[in-house]
Amino acid sequence: MNIIESYIAGEWCAGGASSFSGGQSQCLINAVNDEVIGEVVSLSNGFDRMLEYGRSRAGYALKQLTVHERAERIKQLARYLLDRKETFYQLSYMTGATKADSWVDIEGGIGTLFSYSGIARRELNDDSFIVEGAVENLSAKGSFVGQHLLTSKDGISLHINAYNFPVWGMLEKIAPSLIAGVPVIVKPATLTCYLTQAVVKAIVDSGILPAGAVQLICGGIGDTLEQLNEQDIVTFTGSAATGHLLRAHQNILASNIPFTMEADSLNCCILAPDVTPEDIEFELFIKEVVNEMIAKAGQKCTAIRRIIVPASLMKVVSQQLAGRLQSVIIGDPLDASVQMGALAGRKQRDSVISAIEKLRTVCCTLVDGVNQFSDFKSVGVLPDKGAFLAPTLLSCQDPLNSVEPHQIEAFGPVSCLMPYEELDDAIRLAKMGKGSLVGSVFSHCHKNITRLVFGVASHHGRLLINNRDCSAESTGHGSPLPALVHGGPGRAGGGEELGGVRAIKHYMQRTAIQGSPDTLMAITNQFVRGAKAKHDAIHPFKKYYEELNVGDSLETHRRTVTETDIVNFGCLSGDHFYAHFDEIAARDSFFEKRVAHGYFVISAAAGLFVEPAKGPVIANYGIDHLRFIEPVAIGDTIQVNLTVKRKTKKTKRPEERYFTGVVVWDVEVLNQQQEIVALYDILTLVERKNRD
Ligand code: NAP
Repeated sequence: MNIIESYIAGEWCAGGASSFSGGQSQCLINAVNDEVIGEVVSLSNGFDRMLEYGRSRAGYALKQLTVHERAERIKQLARYLLDRKETFYQLSYMTGATKADSWVDIEGGIGTLFSYSGIARRELNDDSFIVEGAVENLSAKGSFVGQHLLTSKDGISLHINAYNFPVWGMLEKIAPSLIAGVPVIVKPATLTCYLTQAVVKAIVDSGILPAGAVQLICGGIGDTLEQLNEQDIVTFTGSAATGHLLRAHQNILASNIPFTMEADSLNCCILAPDVTPEDIEFELFIKEVVNEMIAKAGQKCTAIRRIIVPASLMKVVSQQLAGRLQSVIIGDPLDASVQMGALAGRKQRDSVISAIEKLRTVCCTLVDGVNQFSDFKSVGVLPDKGAFLAPTLLSCQDPLNSVEPHQIEAFGPVSCLMPYEELDDAIRLAKMGKGSLVGSVFSHCHKNITRLVFGVASHHGRLLINNRDCSAESTGHGSPLPALVHGGPGRAGGGEELGGVRAIKHYMQRTAIQGSPDTLMAITNQFVRGAKAKHDAIHPFKKYYEELNVGDSLETHRRTVTETDIVNFGCLSGDHFYAHFDEIAARDSFFEKRVAHGYFVISAAAGLFVEPAKGPVIANYGIDHLRFIEPVAIGDTIQVNLTVKRKTKKTKRPEERYFTGVVVWDVEVLNQQQEIVALYDILTLVERKNRD
């Protein structure tokens, strides 16, 4: 028997055969043909060693790396897994997934690694911690300031996942945790853990991550929850029933262990009243509903469960959906013609059928995938084998007075049509789901769209609006995206995953640091205004990346602004705005006199601080946070303080000529009264001496 091993404290263990002893066992079955895939033997001990190994060994190693270095490893890992994706596809078919379903799970999951790596390197500083937001001035003279810092938690993150996305479900959570510097223990749902395990095996074999950064529990989690401490984090994806049970665990409550939950969600799709059957939006809507019902055989947390349509269109919508659903080809996912595979297991199919029965107490059946399976076209379905189920479309005639369609989740190819008369009724119906991961609106009327969005946003984590303007590029109702929040209020669990850097910060501790500007600069490695500047005889533009230190500063010579400057700049730029050129209008203006162009001030500032001779500064590639504070009038004299604010080493790509780093400079332009007239950051690319 093929034993699906766990990976604990650097050891692959299969219960009795290892230094960890085994307990209960469970057979894993191919969802398509009922063949035995292997066996999982739950471990009965060793969870304390696993936690300690993760916290001390991998936790320490990850904290030695900067955020960018961790992100770089996540990118390497994504490449490594992509090269081995075919092995994962072969296992994925056994879960009942078609090629398209597997693509979302496998390549979608790997894509999340790439995305997180990019987000971290683009948006976060290259240190082992994250500096968040601006420095807060807390005193009249500026000697006492504050800044938020995020540091890696000292624990591990335990990810308990559902069976439907064995790869994506793991990768979308390990990426932000590892970038945050927190090692991971993955506990996949037993049903499909053989696929998760194959990916974890590849991760371990790659040697890209520090030892113990990713550990795996196949089977039960034993006493892991009792062993967690206040520095650990739990994320849970699965049914609300299990989620509530685990969240209420005595140690989770007593130690205030963060517990994020993603649970059942009765997502809705609303067809707005402006759409007629002749509109493009009508066809887009029908396609989306059908696609969401059959993708992954409806085992998607984001699938459309409630189809909300104007009462006047119920008949035509029912006919269109029924026609398309009845022609779906069901069967062995290895056959390319198959559009919908099997559910992940027979037990799961039974629970979908039982949910359909409950829904039928208030709904009529338009397409019966339970009792009329033989009416559907099927390919490669062996008699009495596999966990196949055809799509079921229900219709609830009085949805405002029925609770079942808003409460019962049939986690399969099942959806329920419900009519509405007024737009406000559609909003009420959407909210009766009591919190969803996602909702979608099909409309080309901005008035209806806006009403619907503000009507239902409080109950949704994500809203997709689809119409002729964006359909060609829309990623669809059911796709969570790394840059956008995934999660929803209420029934959906109240959690938030993904959403760019938010997800990384979720695994870190935010601490407000208070002190003097010099102290904060020493801690954060970023220039804090008010800290002592370091002046040196060598112009900073003559220094290589390694020779520049945060706080290195240049005080430039001065320049008096003349009317000729304003006239020349106006002619050069074509900007003849009255405040610069019309003496009378300017006197009457906000400034009460003619003033220099703001863009002239920053151009003149560059003229003051730039070292013209060729040197290590390769390019200026941006300005951030520009603010004009005081006007500069004819006769005013300006001067610049240029200070190294932050440095980020860049990894050289093969096609690039130079080894470089980005230097962010704080620029302060002052007038003759030492008042700040302009403030901004400039970003330069500076050559590195070190070729590493
Ligand atoms: P489930 O039965 O609640 O199981 C979820 C996870 O919890 C599995 O890893 C399971 O492991 C584990 N688990 C169950 N009991 C446990 C216990 N006493 N102690 C520790 N771990 C325990 O859910 P599922 O059947 O796998 O997934 C289907 C459900 O997940 C659906 O309701 C669906 O809506 C929801 N889901 C939600 C999202 C979302 O993002 N909101 C995403 C996907 C799925 P075992 O398999 O070993 O029992």
